[in-house]
Amino acid sequence: MASPFLVPVALLLRDVPSSIDISAEAPFDEKKEFLPRGRAESDVNSDAPLKINVKLQSFSGGLHVRGSVEAPWHGICRRCSIEVLAVSKVEVSERYVDERAPGDEDAYLIENDFIDLAPMAHDAIFLDLPLAPLCKEDCKGLCPYCGIDRNEATCECQGPVDPRWATLDNLRFIDFPSDESKEN
Ligand SMILES: [Zn+2]
Ligand SMILES: [Zn+2]
Repeated sequence: MASPFLVPVALLLRDVPSSIDISAEAPFDEKKEFLPRGRAESDVNSDAPLKINVKLQSFSGGLHVRGSVEAPWHGICRRCSIEVLAVSKVEVSERYVDERAPGDEDAYLIENDFIDLAPMAHDAIFLDLPLAPLCKEDCKGLCPYCGIDRNEATCECQGPVDPRWATLDNLRFIDFPSDESKEN
């Protein structure tokens, strides 16, 4: 079956300016073009629903594509290692052209009177994915000593002592070598 992201545009290009709205949904990577990323990175499943809602507007020699693309992604929180599930929704404003002018490498190509919205949507979603996701902005992460999830519990582990305080500790030890130095 033809991809719903392949849009015939001959009529639009013949009648300038004209426009149509496109709403389409299909698996993000039906052709399995993209290798899964590493565990630490955010990624989109190949069968995740990619939604494209755009307006195509023709101009002489090409089309403007404006609207939004949306797909769910998953990743691992870089601080506490739980799975993060979220949706990336990106506003797009791109051009498709018959021929790329010099310096126009950002434009996508119209091929045989069709445009393929999928590569444009892939580019927008991949650019939007966080490199190292967080489950929430203020995730407290795991204790590096006992591994407890600091979002859910507290522990008594002590972090490495700041060298300035370490000096102070030594002074105290010298001043109070007896048990009086431990006040608990
Ligand atoms: Zn987290
Ligand atoms: Zn701990």
